[in-house]
Amino acid sequence: MSDPSEKIRCDACPVLCYIKDGMAGACDRYANRAGELVRVDPHVILDRTLEHGGQIVPFGHRDDWSGDLMEDHPRFVTAIGAGTTYPDYKPAPFIISTKLDGIDMVTVVTEGIFSYCGVKIKIDTDRYLGAEAATVRARGEPVGHVTTGEYGSQMLSLGGVNHLTHGGKKEGRVTCDTLLDLCNRKPVELAVDGGATMIVQAGCAPIVNGVQEQRMRVGCGSAAIGMFAQQWFGQVDEVIVVDDHITGVLSEHQAGKVLGVRETGIRIRGRRSTPGRYFHVAAPGAGWGGTNLDDPLSIIEGFDPSKAWPGLSLLMVSTTGEHAAYFRLDDALRPVEHAKPPHIVAFVERIRENCEPALSTVLFMGGAGGSLRAGVTENPVRLTRSVKDMLTRVTSGGAPVYVWPGGGITFMVDVMRLPANAFGHVPTPAIVAPIEFTLTLADYEALGGHMAHVRPAEALHASFAHLVSPDEVNPWPLDHLDPGGRKPRRKGGA
Ligand code: SF4
Repeated sequence: MSDPSEKIRCDACPVLCYIKDGMAGACDRYANRAGELVRVDPHVILDRTLEHGGQIVPFGHRDDWSGDLMEDHPRFVTAIGAGTTYPDYKPAPFIISTKLDGIDMVTVVTEGIFSYCGVKIKIDTDRYLGAEAATVRARGEPVGHVTTGEYGSQMLSLGGVNHLTHGGKKEGRVTCDTLLDLCNRKPVELAVDGGATMIVQAGCAPIVNGVQEQRMRVGCGSAAIGMFAQQWFGQVDEVIVVDDHITGVLSEHQAGKVLGVRETGIRIRGRRSTPGRYFHVAAPGAGWGGTNLDDPLSIIEGFDPSKAWPGLSLLMVSTTGEHAAYFRLDDALRPVEHAKPPHIVAFVERIRENCEPALSTVLFMGGAGGSLRAGVTENPVRLTRSVKDMLTRVTSGGAPVYVWPGGGITFMVDVMRLPANAFGHVPTPAIVAPIEFTLTLADYEALGGHMAHVRPAEALHASFAHLVSPDEVNPWPLDHLDPGGRKPRRKGGA
């Protein structure tokens, strides 16, 4: 232990803070406690026997924490609070031995420092957020862009190495703050150039232009026709499901044809793709079905008098059922709005009932294929191969991850599946995210693991552990590992 009157240097990231006694470093993750460099946050251990909630226990207190991860393996050491050994010229902070079904296992845990990282955000809304590739800003700084929309959702891609490192200092700092808040499930205000402003929070309904979104659409306009044509048949003469992408028209749609729905002679503005499916009926916006429409009749050019008839009934409805209007043609074949009869109200309600609650979903994506691997093995490429061969399981805070095929260890994880506040940052700027690698001791040795640093859980030396129950939808990190069997190796693998 050094002299408490002296500053000590933290070498857990490239900032290399000098920290006075009683003070924390620039990231608030490390502090000088009486001349000793300590990780400030408790180390998070998943305990599958705990009810929901958590408890803090001191390490080494044998009544609360025996360090026993053996046989019934009710606990899993996550990387949250474990610390970092940047730039990984030395082994990862904890390389923990366990036993699983009598087989010696190892879990290597580290808080990775990710300069190459970002979030992918799925926002369940039909409302227009902005053009694809439009810049997304936080506090006025560019932090990402709108990417390709998905079914019923708008997508944003934020962060990445360019915003973190290639813009100005402020851009990097704001990008890092934005990613950190989103990953730790806090609300963040974002604005799209030429588009909407919104508040996004993982696991919560998005707020777009000040309006909280309620429902994700039932499907596109064409899909809605397919889903409900049978129920509408014989009850209403024509149905138009207004959608910014694919507006559906019952009488022309394949579903209507198969059922024998009578032609109505309706003429729709926009570009007809296939019968009963129209693109570009209006511009995108925050009105009916993600269009800019306040008046749905503006997409109807007219009715062919040789086919339409006075009294023809018409339901116009949006893809969420949020907007709906009922019309009958008068003697001049002009649509006149009427109060919705009960069966039409029920049709609209059925659409609404089939819409799922609108949510914002945040996936963290990071590249763990760099120097971090050297904290696991002397021969980093072998860790990559072992992950690809499924001999090594990757988790993030104990949560399952998706590892992209191809080179590197590029993974994605749903931030809702990690314990709360699992992410941190360093001012380089970069995000700190937990990552754990679990494999058999034999495989660990074979890939050149740091065998001299393998130790039992009871040797953990952080001051406190935070025992938390795992997210109930997550598989237990050690379940379904196959330590006795051998998974098929990747073609050409070592
Ligand atoms: S910013 Fe980096 S060097 Fe400073 S305390 Fe945090 S991890 Fe240590």
